[in-house]
Amino acid sequence: MPAEFKHARPIVKTLVEHGYEAYFVGGAVRDTLLGRPIHDVDIATSAYPSEVKALFKKTVDTGIEHGTVMILDHGQGYETTTFRTETGYSDFRRPDQVNFVRSLEEDLKRRDFTVNALAMDGDGQIVDLFGGLTDLKAGLIRAVGSPKDRFFEDALRMIRAVRFAAQLGFKIEPATLAAIKENAPLLDKIAIERVNVEFTKMMEAPGAYFGFIELLAGELNHYMPGLTVADIDLLGYADLVKQARPQNDQQAWTLLAFELGLTAEDTVVFLKGWKHSRHLIVTAQKSITLLNKLRMGPVSNWDLYITGKAIDTALAVAKLSELVVDVATLQARYDQLSIKQSHDLALTGSDLMREFGLKPGPLVGTVLSKLERAVVAGKVANQAASLGVAAQKLIKEEKD
Ligand code: ATP
Ligand code: MG
Repeated sequence: MPAEFKHARPIVKTLVEHGYEAYFVGGAVRDTLLGRPIHDVDIATSAYPSEVKALFKKTVDTGIEHGTVMILDHGQGYETTTFRTETGYSDFRRPDQVNFVRSLEEDLKRRDFTVNALAMDGDGQIVDLFGGLTDLKAGLIRAVGSPKDRFFEDALRMIRAVRFAAQLGFKIEPATLAAIKENAPLLDKIAIERVNVEFTKMMEAPGAYFGFIELLAGELNHYMPGLTVADIDLLGYADLVKQARPQNDQQAWTLLAFELGLTAEDTVVFLKGWKHSRHLIVTAQKSITLLNKLRMGPVSNWDLYITGKAIDTALAVAKLSELVVDVATLQARYDQLSIKQSHDLALTGSDLMREFGLKPGPLVGTVLSKLERAVVAGKVANQAASLGVAAQKLIKEEKD
């Protein structure tokens, strides 16, 4: 039993000593059986939230309406959730009602996939009511119960199936996959932000390739913004990440936009459709601008300069992609730029007005932006004196 479980065992024992049932559940049990590292240890119990709170000194109501109480122990938090059933699902996403129950079986039945519906007691004994152990061995993602009913209850589960296939390197069991294909249009009912979370996890998973294969087989991409494209384009991404994996969301989404052959403007539309953050969208837009230029040939210092902070993402994606460019040299050229932003210029607009008696107006802006280009091109040093000389010449030219 991994250390994380050992530390949490006293909590399970305390609940059991007081006559309740308590088990470890969810991803941590699955990952332990697979010999994979685990994240958070989740506990399910027959005790109602008020009963849990009465037994432990320090608790936090993290989701008490769904039955979740966090128990704090030695600086660690353990989410403890009362066994529950869910009914309603009129929005294909959230149960209209959750009911607390005393039966483990009822609780495991509502879980999405058999490999996620395993429980482990305080002694490390596994409770397997839906064949999860067999599916773990066979490497299969299989819905608990009727896949069609389960996807009708919560359509997000279809993309979760694909995400787990990618993370675990599993296949989706045929009947479950057939139900995904049949019910793929239900994905439209799910808030795009939630689909985004699962799809991003899939793109960054070690087995992203398998995820994309299942995604295409289930035709889920037809209901995802900007992904109703030729299969080959999506597989392009999948092929690349077989070798090296994107390190963060910016890299993953920029690589995808690049593989789809999008322009910088289309990248913005694409990522807005997925409701990405402004920061991610700007980073991807600037990266794609540079990457598309690199695809055509050599780039100028100015091209590198206007990429700005997005340079990290742009160059990381250049490495991940099939572009044949010398990333180290591009990085060195960027590092050696004498300014990184207009703010770094050793001469300001007010300097110009004071020294050359200019009035506020477009001339000041024109001169400044010409100085910026000259400095970035390495034609003028970024020093007040050299900039002053260059400014004088520019002002004369502009006035003539
Ligand atoms: P991860 O390691 O990515 O956290 P996980 O299996 O813990 O994987 P979570 O999304 O954290 O996944 O969910 C925890 C558990 O809750 C799952 O293992 C599953 O049993 C159940 N679960 C989560 N989301 C759903 C859902 N949409 N429908 C049914 N059961 C779900
Ligand atoms: Mg989890």
